[in-house]
Amino acid sequence: MIIIDGSLGEGGGQILRTSLALSIWTQQPVRIEHIRAKRAKPGLLRQHLTAVQAAVAISNGQAKGAELGSRALTFSPGKVQGGDCRFAIGTAGSCTLVLQTILFPLLLAKRESTVTITGGTHNPSAPPIDFLQRAFLPLLTRMGVPVEVTLKKHGFFPGGGGEIVAHILPCPTLQGLELCERGERRRSFAEAYIASLPSRIAERELKTVGELMSWKKEQLFMRGVSGQNGIGNALGITLEHEYVAEVFTGFGERGVSAEAVAKTACDEALDYIASNAAVGPHLADQLLLPLALAGSGRFTMPAPTQHFTTNAAVIEKFLPVRLRVKQERHNLYTAVVVS
Ligand code: AMP
Repeated sequence: MIIIDGSLGEGGGQILRTSLALSIWTQQPVRIEHIRAKRAKPGLLRQHLTAVQAAVAISNGQAKGAELGSRALTFSPGKVQGGDCRFAIGTAGSCTLVLQTILFPLLLAKRESTVTITGGTHNPSAPPIDFLQRAFLPLLTRMGVPVEVTLKKHGFFPGGGGEIVAHILPCPTLQGLELCERGERRRSFAEAYIASLPSRIAERELKTVGELMSWKKEQLFMRGVSGQNGIGNALGITLEHEYVAEVFTGFGERGVSAEAVAKTACDEALDYIASNAAVGPHLADQLLLPLALAGSGRFTMPAPTQHFTTNAAVIEKFLPVRLRVKQERHNLYTAVVVS
């Protein structure tokens, strides 16, 4: 059995999700201790518990310690089965992170899968659905991964109530990915999502983006969202380049000004633009798992984050790959995955 210390490095939920995915992929039982030890509320929250339940369900697996607040989990995977399944987080916990736990294992199924997940789609400290659809999934498509994800309903923090549906075909072998240049800029725009809040908030966010990014009005979009649970706001900046798209997001919160929400997203986007890297920091840590499953690949990124180094360390516990980082110049690094 592989033993993973959940307090290592970043000490967050990614250690749990990557461990579950790779336990199923490699068919090795795993015990994760000190789960989310470095978070303000350690242990399994609803989102993480749903990820565990999803891992159990799709792999006919068994879990000990799968309870809210649990800080240790023993998981034994069985054989992966595809088909239709539905997982409800019950809070604004991230739908995309639950999906990332089971997406790769479901490629091992003998039949196609349709996975419906309800919860948050635009919530802090997680990839919003736009990031998944525009930045992450197109790169998986290039790696030969047959997956499509549809947004059915937005879900903001703290109300939740969003819904995504993923359609995944069997594909046990992934192709490597070389992504060292982003290429020419094709399109860039900002979107202010606003649900049951004054449109003035979105206008102020878009005005801030216009000023900080020196963008024209035609690049700034207000997206009114109706029919979701409660109020919500997020500001996303999309940068489409020849070889890759990136999405940077600020999340509206009580007590945080519209200008500050927009500035968070702009600062991330401007750092990315200045770095000249192909992928930004969030995409970098999330690309490690598919590249490791493929057994080869490389990409350029800004300085490695703690999510990146921690995810790399967890992956190396399960798979016979080495993840190396080489500095090219200030704030430009190459990540290399070799078998
Ligand atoms: P953890 O904090 O360990 O639960 O992991 C959170 C995951 O969400 C990491 O893969 C982060 O890179 C990712 N993430 C957090 N914020 C964003 C964001 N704004 N856009 C894309 N991914 C994000």
